[in-house]
Amino acid sequence: MNFECIQDCSNCCIEREYYPTIKFGKIGVLILPEEKEKIEAYAKIHNLEVSILPRIGISHEKSGGPTKIIAYQLMGKDFNGNTCPFLDTESSERSPHGGYKCKIYQNRPLACKAYPVIESSPITLDSKCKFCEKCGTTATNVNQEVESLVNIKNKMKTNAPFVWRYATGIGDEHNKNKIATGWFLEI
Ligand code: SF4
Ligand code: SF4
Repeated sequence: MNFECIQDCSNCCIEREYYPTIKFGKIGVLILPEEKEKIEAYAKIHNLEVSILPRIGISHEKSGGPTKIIAYQLMGKDFNGNTCPFLDTESSERSPHGGYKCKIYQNRPLACKAYPVIESSPITLDSKCKFCEKCGTTATNVNQEVESLVNIKNKMKTNAPFVWRYATGIGDEHNKNKIATGWFLEI
C-alpha cells in the first residue's frame, strides 16, 4: 500500500516519546551536527526560540563523558517536551493533507524527511505513525524517506568504542522524579 498521511494529522510533529526509557526523558527531532546552525538560523528568521540539546556522543575512553557529539535534538516547545517549535499551530494555514503546516517544510531536518520510515532493510514504518495504526508498518512509495534514513545512518556511523546518550530531563509532570539529565554510557 502507498504511504500517505492521514487526513488532518500532525501527530509526529506534536507527540514526543520517552526514548529509550522514561529515565532519558522525552526526545526531540534528531538533528545532525551539520544541520544545527541551519536550524538555529531558521528559528531566528521565524522569530522562534528553539532548544537544541545533545543526543548521542562518542568517546575513546570509558569515563569522562563524550568527546564528540554526533547527533543533537530539537526539543518540543511545550513544558512536557511536546510540539515542534516550527509547527504552525496558530495560523489557519494547513498542509496539503490538512495537518498544521511546518514553517520550514522545504528545509526541515533530515529526520523529518525520513519519517515514518525507521528501518531501511526491510523497510519498516514507525508503528506510532497514524498511517500505521490503520494500514500496518509496511508501505510502498517511501523511497525518499528511505534515502533520508540511510543518509542519517551513514552520517552517524562511528568506530568509536564508547557511545553516550543524553537524558533530556524533560517530560510530563507525573514522571519528573523518574527523569534524569545528562550523559549516560550506552551498554
Ligand atoms: S507521518 Fe504519520 S503521524 Fe506524521 S502526519 Fe503523517 S500520518 Fe500523521
Ligand atoms: S521541523 Fe517541521 S516537519 Fe519537522 S517536526 Fe518540526 S514541524 Fe514537523
